Amino acid sequence: MSEEPAIAAQEAAPRCGFVALLGAPNVGKSTLLNALVGTKVAIVSPKPQTTRSRVTGIVMEGDSQLIFVDLPGVFQPRRRFDRAMVASAWQGIADADITCLIVDATRPDDGETLAVVDQLKKSGRRAVLVLNKIDLVTREALLPIVAAFDRDGIFDGTYLISASTGDGVADLRAALAAKVPVGPHLFPDDQLTDLPQRLLAAEITREQIFLQLHEEVPYSVAVETEKWTERPDGSVRIDQVIYVMRDGQKAIVLGKGGARIKTLGQKSREQLEAVLDRRVHLFLYVKVRQNWAEDPGQFREWGLDYNA
Ligand code: GDP
Ligand code: MG
Repeated sequence: MSEEPAIAAQEAAPRCGFVALLGAPNVGKSTLLNALVGTKVAIVSPKPQTTRSRVTGIVMEGDSQLIFVDLPGVFQPRRRFDRAMVASAWQGIADADITCLIVDATRPDDGETLAVVDQLKKSGRRAVLVLNKIDLVTREALLPIVAAFDRDGIFDGTYLISASTGDGVADLRAALAAKVPVGPHLFPDDQLTDLPQRLLAAEITREQIFLQLHEEVPYSVAVETEKWTERPDGSVRIDQVIYVMRDGQKAIVLGKGGARIKTLGQKSREQLEAVLDRRVHLFLYVKVRQNWAEDPGQFREWGLDYNA
């Protein structure tokens, strides 16, 4: 602190930093990200491992710019794609200024959570402990959980929150804002809502695919927002491509006589209008791109390392 320039005491110095949200699948990382950012940017789904890309949420808190990375779950990699996700998760931790370990208070000794704590210890990284879902447990039950994690000796502070109810989220956000390093903002403050909008729009459509389609199809789908056109009447036209791997999946996404894609489009548009608070004209296209999960370009777009 004493090394900070004296000017910092006079003018409010801008702060900026990357905050990695780390944790086992289903602990509530995406829900927390949405609560922190205050708008819907990450997929929330009862199915595990739906977060595929490193969704970035950016929020201004006082003079601090917080750039959140919602990391994919840390799980056993099988395909090249999964390996890339796991590598990306740990790379995200190395890149981040602050690592938050999110723990589900109802499952504090979950194997995957303990494995992540182990990895953190090995990497020598310190983290902020975020105990989530406190709406589901009693106060008395929380104390021994916190004490147990304290003994690991890698946590700088513990926050008890409920990402669903918002309990404790503002405190956490304020603490993170005070913790990120002094430095210039990486994103223009007035473009914050614009920046993730294309990605947000794609995620909303992908969420509908998860909700409306079953079996392996959702996991074989990528959604890209191709065009974003502002209209003079204040509405927006959004053109998106749904990429599938096989013709059979294309048929499923389209549905009989196009019925499925119509419902997908309707629901996604309703969601988009609610989130963007404006009229939306949504155009969906389905394309077969056999190897999108092996396509280096797609990896780059998601910020993943193809050679992980
Ligand atoms: P992720 O896999 O870590 O990103 O987890 P999600 O954010 O997708 O959440 C997984 C599930 O936990 C969803 O059904 C959420 O609604 C639920 N959830 C998340 N946070 C809370 C919370 O604070 N309280 C309760 N009761 N449920 C939560
Ligand atoms: Mg998630």
